[in-house]
Amino acid sequence: MQPFLDRIAGFEPTPEEAASRRWIYVPYDRLHDEVGPLAQSSPGETVIVMMESRAKGTRRPYHKKKLTLVLSAMRHFALEQGKRGCRVVYGSSPASFADGLLQLQDKWIWKELVVNRPAERELRIELRAAKERGLRVRAVTDTAWLSTSEDFEAVFGAFDLEKNKGGKRQYLMDKFYRSMRSKSGFLMKGGKPIGGKWSYDSENRRAYHGEVPVPQRPTFPPDDITSEVMELIEQRHPEHFGNIAGFDLAVTRKDAETAWAFALENLLPHFGPWEDAMSTEHRDLFHSLTSPLVNLTLLRPRDLVEQVAEAFAAGSIPLASAEGFIRQLIGWREFMRHVHEATDGYRLLEATTDKPTDDYAGAEISYLNAHRKLPAVYWGVPSGMRCMDTVVAGVVDDGWSHHITRLMVLSNLATLCGFSPRELTDWFWFAYVDAYDWVVETNVLGMSTFGDGGLTATKPYVSGAAYINRMSDFCGKCPLDPKKTLGEGSCPFTALYWSFLERNEDKLSHLQRMRMPLNTMRTRNAEQRRELRDRAQQAIDQLERGECVA
Ligand code: FAD
Repeated sequence: MQPFLDRIAGFEPTPEEAASRRWIYVPYDRLHDEVGPLAQSSPGETVIVMMESRAKGTRRPYHKKKLTLVLSAMRHFALEQGKRGCRVVYGSSPASFADGLLQLQDKWIWKELVVNRPAERELRIELRAAKERGLRVRAVTDTAWLSTSEDFEAVFGAFDLEKNKGGKRQYLMDKFYRSMRSKSGFLMKGGKPIGGKWSYDSENRRAYHGEVPVPQRPTFPPDDITSEVMELIEQRHPEHFGNIAGFDLAVTRKDAETAWAFALENLLPHFGPWEDAMSTEHRDLFHSLTSPLVNLTLLRPRDLVEQVAEAFAAGSIPLASAEGFIRQLIGWREFMRHVHEATDGYRLLEATTDKPTDDYAGAEISYLNAHRKLPAVYWGVPSGMRCMDTVVAGVVDDGWSHHITRLMVLSNLATLCGFSPRELTDWFWFAYVDAYDWVVETNVLGMSTFGDGGLTATKPYVSGAAYINRMSDFCGKCPLDPKKTLGEGSCPFTALYWSFLERNEDKLSHLQRMRMPLNTMRTRNAEQRRELRDRAQQAIDQLERGECVA
């Protein structure tokens, strides 16, 4: 089979076409011809520019499946657009996007390159720098989003550090979500939420015991284009995180739509009740697995939300599941990207400290003063904690795990032990196929580790062993006993939880939702607290030495 770069070269414009057509740069994460400038340009009048950057690929040890997904999806999109009648100039730069685009501009001498305003801060920075170096580029509104910065500011105003001091909070996802529901009209009737409640989260907390069989999802084995990318990744990045074998994600819009149609019909009806459940046998349960596809715009969030609302109206998805899913997309997803942009990826929270000089160095915030190094268990070294070992093994394999395993296993352990939120964020960033700066920094550095001191969450998401035992089947075969708090063979989550509360009492006592756990912690006498601290410290030491917790 002809190599991709030779095939795509066949779609380059003639000099006449180059001079007369409109030039549009399509970034790696906007692979849809019905969003942004591409939606307003007929194929016969368009030249599409796409660019692979090796500097981006090596900036972090990205999961090999993530690099495969992104590059293969880009290459498929480029060929599809060529077949649709667009002309395509496809660059592959050993350096940055900026360098690659400037080089192409020297060759093709376009008058103007139009681009969707990039979703990732990292790409916005690159384009800004390239513009200063002479790149003739103009960013226009990114219509892939469901909301605008104005929508966000209308609810919260511009970011103000002072408004968040002393336990006050400027941002509340719920407030934004309600305004989005009202504005969009999804699941609304007569200006009120259908069913009378904005959220049905309280109905969505069941553990999974096989009540409904988990259906087999469609998979998409590699074609020749994906296989070529996989070879390239293995050759270029052999030391990167994760297994590349078994890659079976959708890399085209058509396959993404097949995956979504299946999820809509077979998974979404059961999504709500088991949204928070964790299972060894069924890693993904009824989650849609749409985030990698939506974040690349192989699927448009608007289409997903509309179709779920229609399915609810037709009676095929219950309200709690439909509302839960729609809240993730028009609420959390949009909210997180606005918080990221408004705070410059949390860099504005560092106002009083030395700012990093490197544009790509992430914000080093840690409200709870957590600075321990992330231990080897996150790289797949066994810890003896079955929940951690099972979830990490899944991430090494798939570059994915669902929300609750991210929040209540991987992040929970890091927050309780005091591992650095920045290091954990960077780990999620390279380990997950759906991670991009705007979504991973807000979810990890902000929400899941409380690194931002409550800008994105009303309390730290932490728990002892009882929660994991109740919501999963991990503990059943674990050598560590979730019902035992102290001594050999006890699950360390519980001792870690109580000593976390003790250690951070001053920093958490102003939070309404932490009053009860803090009061319970205070009922322990000095001796009990010391025992809990010792057990917690022993587990942290073992994890830091790369040993199994015993
Ligand atoms: P569902 O659970 O079916 O939800 C539907 C859609 O909602 C998804 O397509 C997703 O795009 C969106 N969504 C749901 N929750 C969120 C959220 N909190 N923020 C943004 N979008 C959301 N999501 C990412 O897309 N990329 C990340 O790098 C990422 N990192 C995370 C790290 C941690 C520690 C936590 C707790 C959450 C993170 N999330 C991230 C959010 C969420 O876990 C995933 O979006 C979700 O698990 C994807 O599963 P799904 O596609 O089956 O979506």
